[in-house]
Amino acid sequence: MDAEADVVHKIYHGSCLCGEVTFAAEDVSDIWYCHCKQCQHLSGHIVAAAGVSQNNLEYAGDISWSPVSSQTESGHCTTCNSLMFWNKKDSGSISILIGNFADPVGLDVKGHIFVGEKPNYYKISDDLPQYDQYPEGGIR
Ligand SMILES: [Zn+2]
Ligand SMILES: [Zn+2]
Repeated sequence: MDAEADVVHKIYHGSCLCGEVTFAAEDVSDIWYCHCKQCQHLSGHIVAAAGVSQNNLEYAGDISWSPVSSQTESGHCTTCNSLMFWNKKDSGSISILIGNFADPVGLDVKGHIFVGEKPNYYKISDDLPQYDQYPEGGIR
């Protein structure tokens, strides 16, 4: 049997809290916990997100893109303000915050990134790999 024929290109769907913004994402990466300073400010704590190629993401609805740094921007619903996307410009991929997925079954948590920026008020108590910034080779 041809192994290639078994590859399933699963499409994940999701939305913001109010339902105004919806998305469909194909070939989503596994989930990473990000402890960086940007995510601390954007989310109030840490962010759990999965990546998708920009070409494999479709969304509809009114999204506001806010600059986070000269190279990054966040996308949120203009109605309910759900934080949905984090885009590193020129990277070719977009991170989708996992809380916006309707049913993220099949995605596993890969590990922790930007642990070098983690504040001291909490401990990481699982056995997943930890990286000071990005792991070598990126986070796919
Ligand atoms: Zn909304
Ligand atoms: Zn981050």
